[in-house]
Amino acid sequence: MDGRIALVEAGGTKFIVGVGDRTRRIYTRTRIDTAQPEATIPAAIAWLRQQGHSYAAVGIASFGPLDLDRASPTWGHITRTTKPGWDMTDVAGPFARELGCDAVIDTDVNGAALAEWTWGAGQGTRSTLYLTVGTGIGGGAVVDGRLIHGVTHPEMGHIRLPRHPDDRDFAGHCPFHGDCLEGLASGPAILSRWGASLSGLPDDHPAHAIIAWYLAQAVATFQAIFEPARIVMGGGVMGTPGLLDRVRAAAVEASAGYFRGDPRQIIVGPALGEDAGLLGALALVVTDAA
Ligand code: ZN
Repeated sequence: MDGRIALVEAGGTKFIVGVGDRTRRIYTRTRIDTAQPEATIPAAIAWLRQQGHSYAAVGIASFGPLDLDRASPTWGHITRTTKPGWDMTDVAGPFARELGCDAVIDTDVNGAALAEWTWGAGQGTRSTLYLTVGTGIGGGAVVDGRLIHGVTHPEMGHIRLPRHPDDRDFAGHCPFHGDCLEGLASGPAILSRWGASLSGLPDDHPAHAIIAWYLAQAVATFQAIFEPARIVMGGGVMGTPGLLDRVRAAAVEASAGYFRGDPRQIIVGPALGEDAGLLGALALVVTDAA
């Protein structure tokens, strides 16, 4: 055993597979387009075997939802997903069996939260929330060095929010809830409302204020639940120029002076750029064994 850790970032459009170690080093990585699970999972395993290591563990940061109840017969499975072919797919099992090592699995967003807390924008805090705002919206939180879980992982993107006064007609984009946070503020929700991505709309378009307002309501909600020291906001939509500042300003307004601290210190962008997904998978292994 050479201490190498197999890493899998299992996404809806691509799998990034790599090899790392406990020092945070990523030695090599490859990309496999996500097709059906019968093709994609064996291809990822075959690539990992070709690297010639006897892995200490495999860390998997996967799209969800996932069954993370260790006592469940379907632990490590993707459960109810709208992605064709992937409903009730065992992800952790094949990697553990074929690579002959323990598998640690959690959601991609929980992996990102843990990686940002361990090495990135949440480093040095006791509590960090990571929110991704992109094709979907998801959140993960680390408190005192542990990801928070209930029966399974949180579904922070599906919280219910008040409606913005200028956004009452849109039914929402979430297939489960309509106008939950993801249904109102994710990339597809923006596209279906205004026919463009947020960064593709002019600076003075009302969409900017509306989306910032929804995200600020979410921030204020999570602050009310556990007041994280750091709220790291990533994902494609957050790449819109000016959005982070708009969210900060709207969050101050939404909190009505109730929450402590400087919003520029609390609400920040991610610090892990390249390899962030693989670092998420690595953080799951490193922290699990700690
Ligand atoms: Zn929803």
